[in-house]
Amino acid sequence: MKAKKATLNRRTRLILAAAAAAAVLAAVALLFVLPRASDKPYSSLPLAVHFADVGQGDGIVVLCGDTAIVIDGGEERGWEAMRQTLTENRVERIACYVASHPHADHISNAAKLFASYEVESLMTTAFTDLNRPDSQFYLDMMEAAKQEENCRVIEAGGGDTFEFGQLKLEVFSPLSQTADYNDMSLVIRMTYKNVSFLFTGDASQNAERQITDSGAEIRSTVLKVGHHGGEDATGEMFLESVAPQYAVISCGFRNEYGHPHSEVLDRLKANGVKILRTDELGTVSLYSDGRQIFSKELDEQAEQ
Ligand SMILES: [Zn+2]
Repeated sequence: MKAKKATLNRRTRLILAAAAAAAVLAAVALLFVLPRASDKPYSSLPLAVHFADVGQGDGIVVLCGDTAIVIDGGEERGWEAMRQTLTENRVERIACYVASHPHADHISNAAKLFASYEVESLMTTAFTDLNRPDSQFYLDMMEAAKQEENCRVIEAGGGDTFEFGQLKLEVFSPLSQTADYNDMSLVIRMTYKNVSFLFTGDASQNAERQITDSGAEIRSTVLKVGHHGGEDATGEMFLESVAPQYAVISCGFRNEYGHPHSEVLDRLKANGVKILRTDELGTVSLYSDGRQIFSKELDEQAEQ
C-alpha cells in the first residue's frame, strides 16, 4: 500500500510537472502568435504611414481605409522590409505607386512591386526629352507599368493635385526642369482631415527655395526630411514654412554619407520638432485619427 502510494505520488508529480511545462510552452508560443497590445496600440486608427526600414533610402507605405499608396521602396536590399510591411498590413492592391525621383535608393524595387501587387497607377515626375532618365531600373519600372493591366501613368509636377480615397495629394515640386534628379523629386503634401505629411524625396535647398518663392502654403504636421537628413536639404526658411511637429528621417544605420547631418538635426531641434529616425528605430509607423499623430516610437521617446 505504502509503495503504491509513493508510486502514485511520483506519477502525480510527473503529470503535474508535464502539465506545468506544457503551460509554459503554450504561454511562450502565445507570446509569438498573438499580437501584443503594446506592439500595435494604434493600428485600428484610419490612417497609417509606415516608413519601412529599407536601409539607406526611402520606402513609405500609406494606408487609409482600403486605399494604399506606396512611395519609393529603397535599394534592392530594402525589398524584404517593403514586402514585410505590405504583407503585415494585408495589402494586395496599390492605388498609386509614387516614384519620388529616379535614383537607385528610391526606385530599385519598383518593377518587383509591380510584379507582386496589383498597381492601379504610377506617379512619376514629368520629364522632358532632355532629362528623361535612361537607367535600367527606371526603364524597368516604366515597362512594368506598361505591362500592368489598366495601370494609369501620371506624370506630375508642381501645382498638380490628386485624390485617392480620402487622401488629398498636392504636388509642390518640381517647378522647373533640371538635370539634377534630386531636384526633380516630387514634393507632395498628403492630407487626411486635419493632419498632413510632406514627402520630399531628395529635393535640395534649391528646390525648397523655388517652393517657398512660389508662395505655396506648405505647412504640414509631419515632414519626411529631405535627402535622408543631408545638409543640402531642409533649409531654415523651408523648415519654418513647413513648421512640422514631427520629422521622420529615413537613412541607413552608420551609412557612408554620414546622414543625417548634425546641422539638420540642430535645425529641427531648434524649431522644436520631434525627430524619428529609421536608422535608430527600424521601421517607423505613424497613425492618425485625422486630428493628431500617434506612434509607439513617440510614446517611448516621451517615457525617456
Ligand atoms: Zn535618396
